[in-house]
Amino acid sequence: MSGSAQCPHTDVHFDLNVARFGDTNVGYLEIVGRCKICDAPMRFRGAPLGVTPAHPTMALDGSEIRLPFLFGDEEYDGKCVGFVVGVAS
Ligand SMILES: [Zn+2]
Repeated sequence: MSGSAQCPHTDVHFDLNVARFGDTNVGYLEIVGRCKICDAPMRFRGAPLGVTPAHPTMALDGSEIRLPFLFGDEEYDGKCVGFVVGVAS
């Protein structure tokens, strides 16, 4: 099936990746989704563009969301490495 206008997007495949940037204990869960029926990429909304340990961010085109995380009662132990471009609408 091509074209997503007629597809209900009811069967989605997610790719999950854990990334680490800089010398910190913060990890980032990166999520990408794609419709298994029509192959359309999922586009996330509402998060600022970039990557920062302070809050979720997403890729410029919304194709990937990045969720910073720690484990258990860990405290953030690094410098605030990253950038944020702005809030997408
Ligand atoms: Zn679809």
